[in-house]
Amino acid sequence: MTRAPAARDRRFVARSTPTMKRLLQAPNLAIATLWADQLTGAGIAASVQRAFACGIAGQIPPDQALPEVWVQDDGQHARATALLHDLHHRPHRHWLCRCCGEAVDGPFEQCWNCGALLQAPA
Ligand SMILES: [Zn+2]
Repeated sequence: MTRAPAARDRRFVARSTPTMKRLLQAPNLAIATLWADQLTGAGIAASVQRAFACGIAGQIPPDQALPEVWVQDDGQHARATALLHDLHHRPHRHWLCRCCGEAVDGPFEQCWNCGALLQAPA
Protein backbone atom coordinates (compact mmCIF):
# COMPACT_ATOMS: atom_id res chain seq x y z
CA MET A 1 0.00 0.00 0.00
CA THR A 2 1.43 3.39 -0.99
CA ARG A 3 0.91 6.41 1.13
CA ALA A 4 0.43 9.94 -0.07
CA PRO A 5 3.66 11.92 0.37
CA ALA A 6 3.85 14.12 3.40
CA ALA A 7 3.48 17.85 2.93
CA ARG A 8 7.21 18.26 3.54
CA ASP A 9 7.97 15.88 0.64
CA ARG A 10 5.72 17.79 -1.75
CA ARG A 11 7.50 21.04 -0.99
CA PHE A 12 10.82 19.38 -1.75
CA VAL A 13 9.54 18.19 -5.13
CA ALA A 14 8.19 21.65 -5.96
CA ARG A 15 11.51 23.33 -5.17
CA SER A 16 13.63 20.85 -7.12
CA THR A 17 11.55 21.24 -10.29
CA PRO A 18 12.97 23.94 -12.60
CA THR A 19 10.71 26.89 -13.07
CA MET A 20 10.71 29.53 -15.75
CA LYS A 21 12.15 32.87 -14.77
CA ARG A 22 12.01 36.21 -16.56
CA LEU A 23 15.42 37.26 -17.76
CA LEU A 24 14.78 40.68 -19.25
CA GLN A 25 12.51 42.83 -21.34
CA ALA A 26 13.44 43.50 -24.95
CA PRO A 27 12.77 46.68 -26.94
CA ASN A 28 11.06 44.73 -29.72
CA LEU A 29 10.23 41.23 -30.94
CA ALA A 30 13.23 40.97 -33.29
CA ILE A 31 15.70 41.68 -30.49
CA ALA A 32 13.88 39.36 -28.08
CA THR A 33 14.00 36.55 -30.63
CA LEU A 34 17.69 37.19 -31.31
CA TRP A 35 18.54 37.08 -27.59
CA ALA A 36 16.48 33.90 -27.04
CA ASP A 37 18.18 32.27 -30.03
CA GLN A 38 21.62 33.23 -28.73
CA LEU A 39 20.83 31.69 -25.36
CA THR A 40 19.39 28.56 -26.93
CA GLY A 41 22.48 28.25 -29.13
CA ALA A 42 24.61 28.34 -25.98
CA GLY A 43 22.62 25.49 -24.46
CA ILE A 44 20.29 27.57 -22.28
CA ALA A 45 16.63 26.87 -22.98
CA ALA A 46 14.95 30.23 -23.42
CA SER A 47 11.73 31.53 -24.90
CA VAL A 48 10.07 34.80 -25.84
CA GLN A 49 6.97 35.68 -23.85
CA ARG A 50 4.51 38.50 -24.61
CA ALA A 51 5.67 38.25 -28.20
CA PHE A 52 2.59 39.98 -29.55
CA ALA A 53 1.60 42.12 -26.59
CA CYS A 54 2.61 45.21 -28.57
CA GLY A 55 -0.60 44.67 -30.54
CA ILE A 56 -2.59 45.89 -27.56
CA ALA A 57 -0.20 48.67 -26.57
CA GLY A 58 -2.22 51.62 -25.35
CA GLN A 59 -4.73 49.34 -23.70
CA ILE A 60 -2.23 47.96 -21.20
CA PRO A 61 0.59 49.70 -19.33
CA PRO A 62 3.53 50.42 -21.67
CA ASP A 63 5.97 48.34 -19.67
CA GLN A 64 3.74 45.30 -20.16
CA ALA A 65 3.52 45.68 -23.93
CA LEU A 66 7.12 44.72 -24.61
CA PRO A 67 8.34 41.17 -25.30
CA GLU A 68 10.31 39.38 -22.62
CA VAL A 69 12.96 36.69 -22.69
CA TRP A 70 12.54 33.91 -20.12
CA VAL A 71 14.81 31.03 -19.23
CA GLN A 72 13.13 27.66 -18.84
CA ASP A 73 15.22 26.71 -15.81
CA ASP A 74 15.65 29.35 -13.13
CA GLY A 75 18.95 27.69 -12.23
CA GLN A 76 20.31 28.98 -15.57
CA HIS A 77 19.33 32.61 -14.88
CA ALA A 78 22.76 33.81 -13.71
CA ARG A 79 24.56 32.09 -16.58
CA ALA A 80 22.09 33.53 -19.11
CA THR A 81 22.52 37.03 -17.67
CA ALA A 82 26.31 36.75 -17.91
CA LEU A 83 26.13 35.39 -21.47
CA LEU A 84 23.89 38.21 -22.69
CA HIS A 85 26.13 40.75 -20.96
CA ASP A 86 29.14 39.34 -22.82
CA LEU A 87 27.24 39.38 -26.13
CA HIS A 88 26.25 43.02 -25.61
CA HIS A 89 29.73 44.12 -24.62
CA ARG A 90 31.90 42.57 -27.28
CA PRO A 91 35.37 44.06 -27.60
CA HIS A 92 35.79 46.77 -30.20
CA ARG A 93 38.51 45.72 -32.63
CA HIS A 94 40.37 47.21 -35.53
CA TRP A 95 42.03 44.58 -37.69
CA LEU A 96 43.21 44.01 -41.24
CA CYS A 97 41.84 41.02 -43.11
CA ARG A 98 44.58 38.52 -43.93
CA CYS A 99 42.81 37.49 -47.12
CA CYS A 100 41.88 40.78 -48.80
CA GLY A 101 43.63 43.40 -46.67
CA GLU A 102 40.42 45.26 -45.87
CA ALA A 103 40.22 47.17 -42.59
CA VAL A 104 37.47 45.87 -40.31
CA ASP A 105 36.37 48.08 -37.46
CA GLY A 106 33.98 47.15 -34.67
CA PRO A 107 32.97 44.06 -32.70
CA PHE A 108 33.06 41.94 -35.84
CA GLU A 109 34.92 38.66 -36.19
CA GLN A 110 34.35 38.33 -39.92
CA CYS A 111 35.56 40.48 -42.81
CA TRP A 112 32.67 42.42 -44.33
CA ASN A 113 34.41 42.37 -47.73
CA CYS A 114 35.38 38.73 -48.31
CA GLY A 115 33.84 36.86 -45.38
CA ALA A 116 37.12 35.60 -43.95
CA LEU A 117 37.13 35.04 -40.20
CA LEU A 118 39.36 36.94 -37.83
CA GLN A 119 42.19 34.63 -36.90
CA ALA A 120 43.32 34.49 -33.33
CA PRO A 121 46.92 35.53 -32.81
CA ALA A 122 49.26 32.56 -32.82
ZN1 LIG B 1 38.60 40.17 -46.25
